Amino acid sequence: MNNKFEVISSMIENGFSIIELYGIDSNNNCTCYKGADCTSSGKHPVNKKWKENTISSKEELERILQLRPNANFGVVTTENLFVIDVDPRHDGLESLKKIYGTLPPTLTVKTGGGGYHFYYISDEEIRNRTGILNGIDIRGEGGFVVAPASKHKSGNYYHTISFKEVEK
Ligand SMILES: [Zn+2]
Repeated sequence: MNNKFEVISSMIENGFSIIELYGIDSNNNCTCYKGADCTSSGKHPVNKKWKENTISSKEELERILQLRPNANFGVVTTENLFVIDVDPRHDGLESLKKIYGTLPPTLTVKTGGGGYHFYYISDEEIRNRTGILNGIDIRGEGGFVVAPASKHKSGNYYHTISFKEVEK
Protein backbone atom coordinates (compact mmCIF):
# COMPACT_ATOMS: atom_id res chain seq x y z
CA MET A 1 0.00 0.00 0.00
CA ASN A 2 1.67 3.16 -1.15
CA ASN A 3 -0.99 5.74 -1.75
CA LYS A 4 0.38 7.90 1.06
CA PHE A 5 1.28 10.74 -1.30
CA GLU A 6 -2.22 10.85 -2.84
CA VAL A 7 -4.04 10.62 0.49
CA ILE A 8 -1.97 13.25 2.27
CA SER A 9 -1.75 15.67 -0.65
CA SER A 10 -5.52 15.63 -1.03
CA MET A 11 -5.86 16.38 2.69
CA ILE A 12 -3.49 19.35 2.28
CA GLU A 13 -5.59 20.51 -0.70
CA ASN A 14 -8.70 20.25 1.43
CA GLY A 15 -7.26 22.57 4.07
CA PHE A 16 -6.13 20.12 6.76
CA SER A 17 -2.94 21.02 8.64
CA ILE A 18 -0.54 18.12 8.22
CA ILE A 19 2.67 17.42 10.15
CA GLU A 20 5.37 14.79 9.74
CA LEU A 21 5.51 12.02 12.35
CA TYR A 22 8.13 9.34 12.80
CA GLY A 23 7.11 6.29 10.83
CA ILE A 24 7.23 2.52 11.14
CA ASP A 25 10.01 0.64 9.36
CA SER A 26 9.85 -2.76 7.66
CA ASN A 27 10.51 -4.48 11.02
CA ASN A 28 7.52 -2.62 12.52
CA ASN A 29 9.76 -0.46 14.72
CA CYS A 30 9.62 3.33 15.12
CA THR A 31 11.96 5.23 12.79
CA CYS A 32 13.14 7.46 15.67
CA TYR A 33 16.47 6.73 17.38
CA LYS A 34 14.74 4.64 20.06
CA GLY A 35 13.56 2.15 17.45
CA ALA A 36 11.99 -0.93 19.05
CA ASP A 37 12.14 0.76 22.49
CA CYS A 38 9.96 3.71 21.46
CA THR A 39 6.77 3.91 23.53
CA SER A 40 4.96 6.02 20.94
CA SER A 41 5.96 4.15 17.77
CA GLY A 42 4.99 5.95 14.59
CA LYS A 43 2.88 8.46 16.49
CA HIS A 44 5.17 11.32 17.53
CA PRO A 45 6.18 14.47 15.62
CA VAL A 46 9.58 14.74 13.96
CA ASN A 47 9.71 18.43 14.77
CA LYS A 48 9.47 19.63 18.39
CA LYS A 49 7.77 22.80 17.18
CA TRP A 50 5.27 20.80 15.14
CA LYS A 51 2.51 23.37 15.37
CA GLU A 52 4.62 25.86 13.41
CA ASN A 53 5.89 23.22 10.98
CA THR A 54 2.88 22.10 9.01
CA ILE A 55 3.45 20.83 5.47
CA SER A 56 2.25 23.54 3.14
CA SER A 57 2.51 22.06 -0.34
CA LYS A 58 2.55 18.87 -2.39
CA GLU A 59 6.15 19.65 -3.31
CA GLU A 60 7.19 19.72 0.35
CA LEU A 61 5.33 16.45 0.93
CA GLU A 62 7.06 14.87 -2.05
CA ARG A 63 10.48 15.91 -0.74
CA ILE A 64 9.75 14.40 2.68
CA LEU A 65 8.63 11.10 1.15
CA GLN A 66 11.70 10.97 -1.07
CA LEU A 67 13.96 11.42 1.95
CA ARG A 68 11.92 9.32 4.38
CA PRO A 69 9.57 6.94 2.55
CA ASN A 70 8.46 5.41 5.89
CA ALA A 71 7.28 8.75 7.29
CA ASN A 72 3.90 8.85 8.99
CA PHE A 73 1.75 11.97 9.11
CA GLY A 74 -0.47 13.69 11.62
CA VAL A 75 -3.57 15.86 11.22
CA VAL A 76 -3.49 18.86 13.54
CA THR A 77 -6.75 19.32 15.39
CA THR A 78 -7.83 22.86 16.23
CA GLU A 79 -10.42 24.72 18.21
CA ASN A 80 -12.87 24.01 15.36
CA LEU A 81 -11.66 20.71 13.88
CA PHE A 82 -11.91 17.95 16.43
CA VAL A 83 -11.64 14.19 16.29
CA ILE A 84 -13.38 11.59 18.45
CA ASP A 85 -10.66 9.01 19.05
CA VAL A 86 -11.94 5.52 19.89
CA ASP A 87 -9.28 3.23 21.35
CA PRO A 88 -10.16 -0.48 21.42
CA ARG A 89 -7.63 -1.18 24.18
CA HIS A 90 -9.63 0.59 26.85
CA ASP A 91 -13.14 -0.60 26.06
CA GLY A 92 -13.51 2.15 23.46
CA LEU A 93 -15.46 -0.13 21.13
CA GLU A 94 -17.92 -0.90 23.94
CA SER A 95 -18.31 2.83 24.57
CA LEU A 96 -18.71 3.46 20.86
CA LYS A 97 -21.76 1.19 20.77
CA LYS A 98 -23.43 3.55 23.24
CA ILE A 99 -22.83 6.71 21.23
CA TYR A 100 -22.66 5.59 17.58
CA GLY A 101 -26.36 6.24 16.99
CA THR A 102 -25.97 9.82 18.17
CA LEU A 103 -23.04 10.63 15.87
CA PRO A 104 -23.71 12.34 12.56
CA PRO A 105 -21.97 10.58 9.63
CA THR A 106 -18.58 12.11 8.91
CA LEU A 107 -15.06 11.50 7.64
CA THR A 108 -14.09 8.27 9.38
CA VAL A 109 -10.69 6.60 9.71
CA LYS A 110 -10.13 3.04 10.89
CA THR A 111 -6.91 3.17 12.89
CA GLY A 112 -4.03 0.73 12.52
CA GLY A 113 -4.73 -0.36 16.10
CA GLY A 114 -8.35 -1.34 15.41
CA GLY A 115 -10.02 1.84 16.67
CA TYR A 116 -11.71 4.72 14.89
CA HIS A 117 -11.26 8.44 14.32
CA PHE A 118 -14.38 10.51 13.60
CA TYR A 119 -13.62 13.99 12.25
CA TYR A 120 -15.97 16.89 13.04
CA ILE A 121 -16.11 20.63 12.50
CA SER A 122 -17.58 22.74 15.29
CA ASP A 123 -18.43 26.41 15.73
CA GLU A 124 -17.69 26.04 19.40
CA GLU A 125 -14.17 25.87 20.71
CA ILE A 126 -13.26 22.23 21.40
CA ARG A 127 -10.35 21.37 23.66
CA ASN A 128 -8.59 18.06 24.25
CA ARG A 129 -10.58 15.89 26.62
CA THR A 130 -9.65 12.41 27.70
CA GLY A 131 -11.76 9.69 29.22
CA ILE A 132 -15.21 11.09 28.36
CA LEU A 133 -16.23 7.45 28.16
CA ASN A 134 -13.88 4.48 28.57
CA GLY A 135 -11.48 4.44 25.65
CA ILE A 136 -12.86 7.60 24.05
CA ASP A 137 -10.87 10.84 23.85
CA ILE A 138 -11.49 14.12 22.10
CA ARG A 139 -8.59 15.66 20.16
CA GLY A 140 -9.15 19.38 19.71
CA GLU A 141 -7.14 22.57 20.11
CA GLY A 142 -3.50 21.71 20.79
CA GLY A 143 -3.67 18.12 19.60
CA PHE A 144 -3.26 15.94 16.55
CA VAL A 145 -4.21 12.48 15.33
CA VAL A 146 -2.35 10.03 13.10
CA ALA A 147 -3.43 10.57 9.49
CA PRO A 148 -4.84 7.96 7.12
CA ALA A 149 -2.23 6.06 5.03
CA SER A 150 0.12 6.06 8.04
CA LYS A 151 1.44 2.72 9.30
CA HIS A 152 0.77 1.38 12.81
CA LYS A 153 3.32 -0.69 14.74
CA SER A 154 0.99 -3.67 14.24
CA GLY A 155 1.86 -3.45 10.55
CA ASN A 156 -1.68 -2.29 9.72
CA TYR A 157 -2.41 1.02 8.01
CA TYR A 158 -4.79 3.78 9.05
CA HIS A 159 -7.36 4.14 6.29
CA THR A 160 -10.55 5.99 5.57
CA ILE A 161 -13.76 4.01 5.54
CA SER A 162 -17.34 5.08 5.09
CA PHE A 163 -19.16 5.95 8.32
CA LYS A 164 -21.58 3.07 7.69
CA GLU A 165 -18.72 0.56 7.67
CA VAL A 166 -18.05 1.07 11.39
CA GLU A 167 -18.42 -2.30 13.11
CA LYS A 168 -20.89 -1.94 15.91
ZN1 LIG B 1 9.64 6.81 18.15
